[in-house]
Amino acid sequence: MSDKYDVVVIGAGPAGYVAAIRCSQLGLTAACVDKWTNDDGKPSLGGTCLNVGCIPSKALLDSSERFHQTMHGLQAHGIRVKDPSIDIEAMIARKDKIVATLTSGIQGLFKHNKVTSIHGEGRLLGKGRVEVTSKDGKRSLQCDSVILATGSIPIELGVAPFDFKKIVDSTGALNFKDVPKRLGVVGAGVIGLELGSVWRRVGSEVVILEALPTFLPAVDQQIAKDADRQFKQQGLEIKLGTTVTGAKATAKSVTVSYTDSEGAHQLKVDRLVVAVGRRPCTEGLIDDKAGVELDDRGFIQVDDHCRTKVPGVFAIGDVVRGPMLAHKGSEEGIAVAELIAGQSGHVNYEAIPWVIYTDPEIAWVGRTEQDLKEAGIPYKAGMFPFAANGRALAVDATAGRAKILAHAQTDEILGVHIIGPQASELIAEAVTAMEFSASAEDIARTMHAHPTLSEAVHEAALSVDKRAIHRAN
Ligand code: FAD
Ligand code: NAD
Repeated sequence: MSDKYDVVVIGAGPAGYVAAIRCSQLGLTAACVDKWTNDDGKPSLGGTCLNVGCIPSKALLDSSERFHQTMHGLQAHGIRVKDPSIDIEAMIARKDKIVATLTSGIQGLFKHNKVTSIHGEGRLLGKGRVEVTSKDGKRSLQCDSVILATGSIPIELGVAPFDFKKIVDSTGALNFKDVPKRLGVVGAGVIGLELGSVWRRVGSEVVILEALPTFLPAVDQQIAKDADRQFKQQGLEIKLGTTVTGAKATAKSVTVSYTDSEGAHQLKVDRLVVAVGRRPCTEGLIDDKAGVELDDRGFIQVDDHCRTKVPGVFAIGDVVRGPMLAHKGSEEGIAVAELIAGQSGHVNYEAIPWVIYTDPEIAWVGRTEQDLKEAGIPYKAGMFPFAANGRALAVDATAGRAKILAHAQTDEILGVHIIGPQASELIAEAVTAMEFSASAEDIARTMHAHPTLSEAVHEAALSVDKRAIHRAN
């Protein structure tokens, strides 16, 4: 086997594996080096996203939502179920099966696309030179271009270090063997809310401690207020403006110490999940002489086209600036592969969709109302509640709204914010609209099938010009 490739990708998460496949599609020889090893010692492709991130969390969100619906949502439909219970081991096993299907699927895709998969730890020695360390020893790879896609890892809190039994990261929270009676979560971000919801739905009392005084500051604040109300109704206790000062685990429980505006407190829980963000994974990745620079938070420094200072060395995904989202990394992977192949790959960072997969789901793209106010951009807002949408009533999911922000003069869509059923799917229309620099009127004049949830987006667009049909404007 030749150890010379056109492109070597380090990291087989959604950024790296997609980049490697796209390189291969474009006629480049590509190798993808990844070090992920499961507890059973076997390699697994797909990175954080497939192994311990997007996919397993959504599998558990689905199982827990079905259980919750069975317990609380079926009566109104006239469905009676006697003594429902949940088998956590089976729920986790289902999740693991989905992960195994998808991760082995990447192996199949690599084979099909003739991407050489190399298991081991990659290290950039310099332009065109990568060293791989594995149980078989060291191996040198030569290449014209290198793509660094090593992702991110959970941030550990000094005052509440992981013991991986009682004080765990998100991976631990995807693998509880039973339902913790009381679950503490540090961080009311995406992971805290999603995994907090999973365990709440199957019976945990969940308390989330958040340092910031504002709930979901990056989300349009009207939507964040809606979300806060819904989560409170579901029994998620979210304490804002708290500072965790310590966490002490015993065999049975964890005592968390924290302070807030009212003083010092203690919280006793059965397990504690620390989800306070993730940091770029660059340890041992880059030789000092390679010339690639990191910023002060450890992210690999790149320009708008994911180019590092060293010609032929690119970096993509969670290891570089921008939101830590799988689809953002994948799009960067495609763009970089196309640039390497001499095409004009490009990522539109203004149209990245965000989704929080709680119930209701929260999804958005573009600017928030607070952003626009702060930037002094004149805008018009259109809104439509799911409570007035026929399909939402039919499927018993009336909480939330669709909201569109458009430029006051040009009518160009500047942001779309949805909290409600299937928001994760509904946002795609808004992303497409923004990619085409559509106006609110463009969506308003587009026919939407009836009865669908997407009619709420249509009505929100009509409401930008105060002409929604199914509500008072
Ligand atoms: P990663 O997926 O982290 O992959 C990097 C790979 O590189 C890993 O396999 C790692 O082992 C390997 N690696 C690291 N260093 C080396 C080295 N030196 N040599 C060889 N290999 C190396 N995002 C979404 O968009 N939607 C979601 O719903 C979502 N849910 C999430 C839920 C959870 C619980 C978590 C933790 C994250 C979630 N994310 C979600 C975020 C998403 O997982 C990341 O944004 C995404 O995985 C980043 O992709 P990546 O390819 O940059 O890095
Ligand atoms: P996050 O940045 O979403 O949230 C972390 C939260 O912890 C923030 O609200 C922050 O203010 C808070 N925090 C920080 N330090 C704290 C402290 N000492 N005490 C209390 N609170 C503290 O990060 P996350 O939830 O860990 O998720 C990590 C990344 O994974 C995110 O960037 C996200 O993009 C990605 N992710 C995405 C999805 C999705 O797309 N649905 C799901 C899960 C994770």
